[in-house]
Amino acid sequence: MYRLYKEQLIAENAESDIVSQSLYEKVFKTKFNLSFKLPYKDTCKKCDIFQTKTNSRKALENTSDNVKALEDVNMERELHHRQVDLAGATLRKDKEKAINGECTVLAFDLQKTISLPKVPIGVVYYKRQLSCFNLGIHDMGTSKGTMHLWHEGISGRGPNEIGSCLLKHLNANPTKETVVFWSDSCGGQNRNLKLVTILMHIVQDPAQHVKEIIQKFFIPGHSYLPNDTDFSHIENKMRCNQTIYHINEIQSIMKTCRVKK
Ligand SMILES: [Zn+2]
Repeated sequence: MYRLYKEQLIAENAESDIVSQSLYEKVFKTKFNLSFKLPYKDTCKKCDIFQTKTNSRKALENTSDNVKALEDVNMERELHHRQVDLAGATLRKDKEKAINGECTVLAFDLQKTISLPKVPIGVVYYKRQLSCFNLGIHDMGTSKGTMHLWHEGISGRGPNEIGSCLLKHLNANPTKETVVFWSDSCGGQNRNLKLVTILMHIVQDPAQHVKEIIQKFFIPGHSYLPNDTDFSHIENKMRCNQTIYHINEIQSIMKTCRVKK
């Protein structure tokens, strides 16, 4: 940006007005309410397709066919974004219901795989590490996050394991008769027949307090789950530890997160 600014002033024959880079940066940082945004990660596949279609059509001639195609893409994008907004609004409504005590609303998600041991030695990147999994369940009514931690030696991370964690959570915590589960649309973990079967088992079990379970999903690529905030607390704490050797150490770190809240 500074280089462009210099080029501009040179082109305008105003070289004497050019200020130093440090002054330029100081003014930019303190006098304007502007900042640089980091590029998005894990963007939505559909949104990317819409953007590519729009860019390719815009690059072509302004014929009636292209204008029509562009309008169609814009219409599809609008519908897609309305669905995304609707999902967000529904989650907010569910949260209110949970706070009012009408039902229990639980959002669940798997944290990024944690590899052990965590050591600052470069050679560890070429070694086979132990994968640890953490399923976070966030109660939207109480804003309490519960973590379910295990490693690949105990089990994998398929729908059976996810379902077991949900069952364990429902058994260990008081819930309303209606429970709403929110998650992303990951087919291998959350959105499949095995998980539905476990949820049916919970509802049909006379020993269970839960009478109704509603499963809701975000639009793929637009999942804004409260679990992400829980996980970022854990990941920030983990960054402060130079070495982690054992899964119990991860557990200890988790216990120190959001202690005041
Ligand atoms: Zn999208």
